[in-house]
Amino acid sequence: MINKKVIVIGGGVAGLAAARTLKTQGFSVSVLEQQQTLGGRVGTFDVDGMTINKGARLLYSFSPALNTLLGELSLTDQVHRHRQLSANCVGVNKDWPIHLMPSVKSAFMPGLGIGERIRLARHAAQLWQLRKRANPDDAASVPEADRQTLADFALKKVGPNFLKNVLEPLFGGARSWPPQDISAAFYLTTSPHMFGAEVMHPHKGMGALPEALSVGLEVETGVQVKAIVEGQRCQVVSETAGQEIVHEADYVVCAVPGDLVLTMVDNIDEGDRSFFEQVHYTAYGAVHALLKGHLEEKMSFFDRDAARGVSVYQQDPKAEHTQIYVQLDPASVALARLKGMQDQLDTLMADRMHELCPALLDGGVATYNQWIERMLPLFPPGYCAEMRAFRDRQAKSPRQVYYCGDYLAQALVSGAVASGQTAAHTLSRHWA
Ligand SMILES: Cc1cc2nc3c(=O)[nH]c(=O)nc-3n(C[C@H](O)[C@H](O)[C@H](O)COP(=O)(O)OP(=O)(O)OC[C@H]3O[C@@H](n4cnc5c(N)ncnc54)[C@H](O)[C@@H]3O)c2cc1C
Repeated sequence: MINKKVIVIGGGVAGLAAARTLKTQGFSVSVLEQQQTLGGRVGTFDVDGMTINKGARLLYSFSPALNTLLGELSLTDQVHRHRQLSANCVGVNKDWPIHLMPSVKSAFMPGLGIGERIRLARHAAQLWQLRKRANPDDAASVPEADRQTLADFALKKVGPNFLKNVLEPLFGGARSWPPQDISAAFYLTTSPHMFGAEVMHPHKGMGALPEALSVGLEVETGVQVKAIVEGQRCQVVSETAGQEIVHEADYVVCAVPGDLVLTMVDNIDEGDRSFFEQVHYTAYGAVHALLKGHLEEKMSFFDRDAARGVSVYQQDPKAEHTQIYVQLDPASVALARLKGMQDQLDTLMADRMHELCPALLDGGVATYNQWIERMLPLFPPGYCAEMRAFRDRQAKSPRQVYYCGDYLAQALVSGAVASGQTAAHTLSRHWA
């Protein structure tokens, strides 16, 4: 046992992974989480007969950090695995299949010219080569990808139909990450590992991961941290049920979303401050509805001309009901924010939803509007270089406050886990 106390702020998967690693290494650790439940953007909750994800829906098997962790948590056999995951992409006059996991089938997708098809085959071979140096848990591992937008990259490498028919529906739609706004870093570090990979979903729902991660940890929920004050020891000023409480620790691991860091840490180095000022997230809006009766199972993405406000539409039949999922596209998310209609997404989207699901006109059993202010960190061109420089500074010299989260790695559960573990190892190397 190391006679040092660490407070981890934030009980998302990054914070829990950091806490678990530090505890294993002998530190005395406690986790403070502002919500009543752990998991942050991972987990589920039930509303009016519907099960709703707090964020992530799938885990990706290509992550070494996540695979090892699932083994340690005895979850490896507790997940459904899918090697082929496809959706229908809706265009104005035609539909086509869109594959989340690329395979030989991807080469035959309709809508590409012969030149694009040849360039796509060449591009696939380059992605395969990139496997050696692309770390799927680190968007900074292919530095040249950080210098251009994903849209420019796709146009240059393959062509306009690849951008419009594949990347825009997948990234701009499902992830709310328009390829014009992000660098090619996420794409070029994850896609090489998608060939033959699996997506996973825990049998007991996504909450199984934070639940297993938190076993044996000292955790306080409902505690909102207001400030971290460095000194002889670190003071963590927090509020619980309207009462201010000050916790003390030797070190802090701050695992809250990166754009909140400057609201709680004052005394911060200029370079770090400038990095945190660049951390931004995309927002997410979805309407969930429950209908009586059985509609066929369906999942659709949309191209830019057919979207008209919606990026993903899903029908998920249950025993007596069908759960409907309508994810707003980035333009509708921006409109909802502009009109202040974050909690009236069903009203904002009513016409489009009835068009997609006429059965809704007969009245759904229940509706739930879901707004998530921070969906995924936005990695525009240049971000990964800044992220890497921050991580290098953190790794170089001891400090009292360490940082982790998906915004410091890869915008996925696996990146968040890897980031939490790395921060814990760094702290341990500096101080143990
Ligand atoms: C809609 C959606 C879909 C997604 N889909 C996928 C997917 O399919 N696959 C995938 O791998 N990833 C997906 N992601 C991304 C994934 O969920 C995140 O990358 C990951 O969960 C981030 O974990 P984190 O621990 O870094 O952050 P978070 O989960 O945000 O954890 C931060 C924690 O800090 C707490 N906190 C914040 N402020 C304070 C405070 N002042 N005091 C105390 N606690 C505080 C928060 O409550 C939260 O619990 C999705 C995300 C969303 C929102």
